[in-house]
Amino acid sequence: MTTSVVRIEDKLYQNRYLVDAGRPHIKVRQHQSPSSNLLALTLVCPANCYGVNEHGQVEVTADGCMECGTCRVLCEENGDIDWSYPRGGFGVLFKFG
Ligand code: SF4
Repeated sequence: MTTSVVRIEDKLYQNRYLVDAGRPHIKVRQHQSPSSNLLALTLVCPANCYGVNEHGQVEVTADGCMECGTCRVLCEENGDIDWSYPRGGFGVLFKFG
C-alpha cells in the first residue's frame, strides 16, 4: 500500500495570479523594528508573502496572496499594514483539481 503526501506548496501551485504590476494591494507601513504582530506574519501567512529583510524589517511580496485576510485581521487595525483587495481582474484565481 502506498500513501501519497499532499503538500501545501503543490496545492498553491495550482492557483493562478494576475499581478497588478506596481500596485501592490498590501503595504507594510514603514518601521524601524517590527512589532510582534508584524513579525508573526512571517509565520502565519499561508502563501509565505512576508519575510524579514537584511535590516530586520518585515516586507511583503503580495504577488502570491490568496486574499485569506489573516494578515488583515492581525495587523490592519493597529496600523502595521494597509490592506485592500486587488483591483478587478487582478489577484488570485483559484483552481481546484
Ligand atoms: S491575505 Fe492571507 S495570503 Fe494574503 S498576504 Fe495576508 S495572510 Fe498572506
